[in-house]
Amino acid sequence: MKVFFAVLALAVSVVPAAAQQDFSKVEIKAEKVAAGIYMLTGRGGNIGLSVGKSGTYVIDDQYAPLTDKILAAIRAITPDPVRFVVNTHWHGDHTGGNENLGKAGALLVAHENVRRRMSAEQLSATFNRSTPPSPEAALPVVTFTDAVTFHWNGDEIRVRHVPPAHTDGDSIVQFVKADVVHMGDLFFNGGYPFIDTSSGGRVDGVIAAAEQALAEIGERTRIIPGHGPLATRADLQAYRDVVKTLRDRIAKLKAEGKSRDATIAAKPTADHDAAWGTGFMKGDIFTGLVYDSLP
Ligand SMILES: [Zn+2]
Repeated sequence: MKVFFAVLALAVSVVPAAAQQDFSKVEIKAEKVAAGIYMLTGRGGNIGLSVGKSGTYVIDDQYAPLTDKILAAIRAITPDPVRFVVNTHWHGDHTGGNENLGKAGALLVAHENVRRRMSAEQLSATFNRSTPPSPEAALPVVTFTDAVTFHWNGDEIRVRHVPPAHTDGDSIVQFVKADVVHMGDLFFNGGYPFIDTSSGGRVDGVIAAAEQALAEIGERTRIIPGHGPLATRADLQAYRDVVKTLRDRIAKLKAEGKSRDATIAAKPTADHDAAWGTGFMKGDIFTGLVYDSLP
C-alpha cells in the first residue's frame, strides 16, 4: 500500500490542477489534418478545428488561461468567430476554455453526462484531487444522449456517445467526408490510457471504443487522439492491442484472487512500460485502474 501511495503522490505532483500551472510559455501549434481541418496542440487535450463556409467549429478547448492564445492560433487560419464547441468529455484539460468561448458567442455542445459532471464537484481518487463545479457559463448548452450530427462546412460531423470508457460521458467525433476522427481521451496515442474510474470509466469500454472506431475507419483515416501526436489506423490498432493484452493479464491475476496491491506488485505491464508507460500514465497506476474497473 505504501508503494502505491508513493506512486500516487508522484502522479499528483506531475499533474497539477490548472490553477497551479504556468501557461505563460505554452505555445499553440496548428497542424493541418485535412482540407479545412486542423489539430491544435498546446497543453491539455488536443483540439480539433474545422473552418469553412459555415463557420468555425472547435472540438475541446484545453485550459481557460490558454483561450487567448488558442483564438490567436485560430485567427491565423480564419477570421470567422467560433460558432460551436463540442466537448469529447468533461475533464478540465478539454473543457477549461468553455466559459471564455461561450461568452465569446460559441454554442457549447456535449453528452449530458459532461454537463452533469461539470455541474457538481468531482473527486478523483486516482489523483486525490477535487474539481469544483464549473460556472454556469462553462456548461454545455446543448446536450445529447446518444448522438448528434452537424451538417457543417460541407461535411457531416457525427458526434456519438460510447458506453463508459475513459469516463461515462465520452464521444467520438467523425468528419465523414474529410475522413477524420477525433477520439478525445478514448485514445492516448503512444501511451497507456487514463481510465477515470471516479467518473465511471472502465477498461473494457476503452477497448470497445477503440474496436468500434477501428471497425468504422479506413487505412487512410486521420485520427486526432486526446493526447499524443496525430494518428493513423495502425497507431489505434497498436493501442487497442496493448490495452487488451494488459487488460487480459490483469484480469487473470484478479480472477486468481490476487489483491489490488499484489497485482500491481506483479508488474503485469513491465514489458510494455518503456514504450507505453513513460508519459502521463505510468504502468503501476494504469494497472490499479484496470484492476478497479474490471468486473
Ligand atoms: Zn480526459
